[in-house]
Amino acid sequence: MNVIIFGPPGAGKGTQAQNIAKKFNLYQISTGDILRSEIKKKTDIGKKIESIISEGEFATDDIVNKLLDKIIKDPAYKNRIILDGYPRNIDQAENLETILKKDNQTISAVLFLKISRDIVEKRIIGRITCDKCNKTLNEFFSSKEEIASHSCGKDHFKKREDDNLNTIANRYDAYMYKTKPVLDFYSTRSYFHEIDGSQKIEEIASKIEQILNL
Ligand code: AMP
Repeated sequence: MNVIIFGPPGAGKGTQAQNIAKKFNLYQISTGDILRSEIKKKTDIGKKIESIISEGEFATDDIVNKLLDKIIKDPAYKNRIILDGYPRNIDQAENLETILKKDNQTISAVLFLKISRDIVEKRIIGRITCDKCNKTLNEFFSSKEEIASHSCGKDHFKKREDDNLNTIANRYDAYMYKTKPVLDFYSTRSYFHEIDGSQKIEEIASKIEQILNL
């Protein structure tokens, strides 16, 4: 199955995508992670997008579509993808339909995590991610014990550079402006599901499992 998880920054897409990937044996494809890794490796693409991402803007469609095209065509990932952070605008949504169709693949579910701006701000400001295994916790919401006992060691938890108030405002606005039409694009499809993203992680995970097990 191919799944899209969708929602504003801080809605919990990454956390839920990790969980779904594990439970349903899928590959989590996060375009944000792929782009950050290009920056880290200082590739040509990485150099081009570094300042764009740090300001909370979107990377160009051309770059992201090319990265995704490669993944969709890869037989190892065929019908085993959970997309997190893509598509982010209508062009990307249309591109995805085209490349899936060419490869005889379809979308099984679009999961929309709906969440208010207040909660998003708290979640993003407190977000810490392990630079070894990518586990994400939160300084406000995760227990001290959970952070301290992380198997890679707590010092591996880092804040993302684009997780500050200024950037959050930009990212939220960019989401509202560009990504909301994607929601309209999918919301009439039978495989579209809206989920309350302000619930606890486990509650959201169990709702998602119910949906995907149908
Ligand atoms: P994320 O980790 O999904 O919050 O993405 C972090 C940043 O990566 C975003 O603010 C964008 O600048 C960039 N990015 C991620 N996915 C896309 C995409 N599909 N299209 C354009 N830019 C993206």
